[in-house]
Amino acid sequence: MSWIPPLLLHYYITERCNSRCSFCDIWRQPAGPDALLEDVERNLHDAARLGLRFVDFTGGEPLLHADLPRMLRRARSEGLRTTLTTNAMLYPDRAAELVGNVDFLHFSLDASTAADHDRLRGRPLFDRVMASIDLARQLGEKPDLLFTALPDNLHHLPGLAEFCRRLGLVLIVNPVFSHREKRELNPEDLAFIDQFARRPFVYVNRAFHLLRKRGGNSIVQPRCRVVDSVVVISPQNQLILPCYHHEQARISLVEGLAACWHSAAVNELRAQQGRWPACAGCTLNCYFDPSFACRIDALFMHSMAAKIKYARDKYVRAPLMRTLSRTDPRPAAGIMASLSKPDDSPAEAR
Ligand code: SF4
Ligand code: SF4
Repeated sequence: MSWIPPLLLHYYITERCNSRCSFCDIWRQPAGPDALLEDVERNLHDAARLGLRFVDFTGGEPLLHADLPRMLRRARSEGLRTTLTTNAMLYPDRAAELVGNVDFLHFSLDASTAADHDRLRGRPLFDRVMASIDLARQLGEKPDLLFTALPDNLHHLPGLAEFCRRLGLVLIVNPVFSHREKRELNPEDLAFIDQFARRPFVYVNRAFHLLRKRGGNSIVQPRCRVVDSVVVISPQNQLILPCYHHEQARISLVEGLAACWHSAAVNELRAQQGRWPACAGCTLNCYFDPSFACRIDALFMHSMAAKIKYARDKYVRAPLMRTLSRTDPRPAAGIMASLSKPDDSPAEAR
């Protein structure tokens, strides 16, 4: 049994998605029913009592869930900080329902041109992301942009970094992660991304890079502490263990999250975290980030340094820019169009 409370709740509220991203499996699988509001509210209450600090409403595309605004409000009323990542297709239609209730609002943006972003996402989303940025800023939100770094889109990174600097928004660089389908960045790709780590308004977590350079998780000495640090709940009101991508068990939450979390079944799975054969070489960012907080080592230090820089950019540098009217007042699409076109080859961009 762990005496340290988990940090983060990954709440999968829907498995439906209106995007067709080339690097994602979720939309290829049949979706079950969405989460029920009454289950979500009960689990959020229990999560807060267990000591969790953050809830990430995820999916699928979370904006497809009609009750998302009520879930966000309930999470905040329980003292949880909320995270929402969206492909932005529905954000312009639903922004007014969400305003003020998302602490970390992320719009996915994988390229500086509509052609490449829409190709990677399999849907015409680029213009929706640009409109969402403008609308969120008008509403007083502080969105971040989430760049999934793939082997074939790194040449867009310089342009996107400059775009974010002008707007005073943080660009989160999220290396594509490897699990079943190996589509990893190579050492040269990681070195290229590293160059952006000190740039204002670019978030690069070098702990992810160090983990990859070490070959990912070791099943002999696991660095994964997913069951200690993360709670994962399915839309069908089940606890998923140990993680969404390597499910070993689903436990019904009808008896409540707190009772389930302290059960013998969960403790047995906790003892196995990071040790299953499929865990060898794992680099799942969303599960390793909380795991880094569980042990003080080089991965912990890199991760903390990245978060301190993120906080400085978002909560000090950006407000200062706004106060001094140093942000570019033009619409996002106009700023992007004014930036030079990306080089055709990543090698040239380096
Ligand atoms: S928007 Fe998210 S869940 Fe949907 S296909 Fe893309 S990566 Fe997968
Ligand atoms: S190592 Fe990866 S696959 Fe294994 S439990 Fe941890 S997050 Fe899941």
